[in-house]
Amino acid sequence: IDKIVNSKATLHTEIIIYTKGKRPRDVIYSAQFIKLGNEGHIIVTLIDNSERKNAERELRLLNSRLEKKVMERTLELNYSLEKEKGMNEMKSQFVSMASHEFRTPLSVILSSTGLLSQYTRPEDGEKRKKHTDRIISSVKNLTDILDDFLSLDKLEQGMMDVRKSDFNLKEFSEDLVEKFQQTVKNGQKINYIHEGTGQIYLDDKILRNIMTNLISNAIKYSPEGAEIDVETNVSEHGISILVKDHGIGIPEQEQKHIFGKFFRARNAFNIQGTGLGLNIVKKYVELLDGKISFTSNKFQGTSFVVEFEKEE
Ligand code: ATP
Ligand code: MG
Repeated sequence: IDKIVNSKATLHTEIIIYTKGKRPRDVIYSAQFIKLGNEGHIIVTLIDNSERKNAERELRLLNSRLEKKVMERTLELNYSLEKEKGMNEMKSQFVSMASHEFRTPLSVILSSTGLLSQYTRPEDGEKRKKHTDRIISSVKNLTDILDDFLSLDKLEQGMMDVRKSDFNLKEFSEDLVEKFQQTVKNGQKINYIHEGTGQIYLDDKILRNIMTNLISNAIKYSPEGAEIDVETNVSEHGISILVKDHGIGIPEQEQKHIFGKFFRARNAFNIQGTGLGLNIVKKYVELLDGKISFTSNKFQGTSFVVEFEKEE
């Protein structure tokens, strides 16, 4: 002990004392060796540090909870900021698309209404009909653009309901193709074939929208006189729908963007369109757990295939 005392060593440590039936105590243990006369003494000090330790622990807990909260809030804020940014971007894209796409139908309406007021003679009936039809189709065009935009918004907000029912795909497609045959360009022809059983269980409204978009693209991006093939197939493996045209095709380097919102390929710039159709189609196909793919060659044509697994 002499040796220790002479070295003036002090032992200082923290220990935990476990007492029966009570909570363990954090204790600061300190031992000092001193020499009084010829005797060596050890002064041991025990300080109950439990309260401070508890307070420290609570503080640490509080801190980590606070950090978590701050992190959560930051994430939430970032998410709403991103959403807001996306929304603003979409609005400005919409404004630039609308200012371009609304111009043609609006000018048709303006010129046709102007002409209508001049065709007052009874023998002008045919001309009046022509201009009234033009007005109707321009208004329909504007309504379609707005409808697309609204359904996109609804889809993005996750507010689109899926309502499946049993129906016959063959009859459904025949009806659709027949309606489209009335709107084709000069000499264009839509061929339709169906293979397999016809009965399917799917959302017919959504499917109509998907097929309408694909067929109207096939018509729009094909020249006069071109043929368009629509094929549907229902087997035990699933449902597949093919829409094939022999039109302008999609340039290879732009194919990866084709489902993007407002995207329009360079070779389609002088053809009317908003660039929303395929974006909506893809979202609809995914809403029905299906897949969409395409192959396209410039000047040779484009084929879109939509597939769904069969549900009983
Ligand atoms: P809309 O919203 O009126 O459908 P859009 O036809 O321009 O406008 P999408 O249907 O989304 O928009 O198509 C996006 C782009 O993909 C088109 O602008 C066109 O460049 C290209 N595209 C789509 N389908 C075809 C096709 N069958 N043949 C050639 N290009 C196509
Ligand atoms: Mg389109």
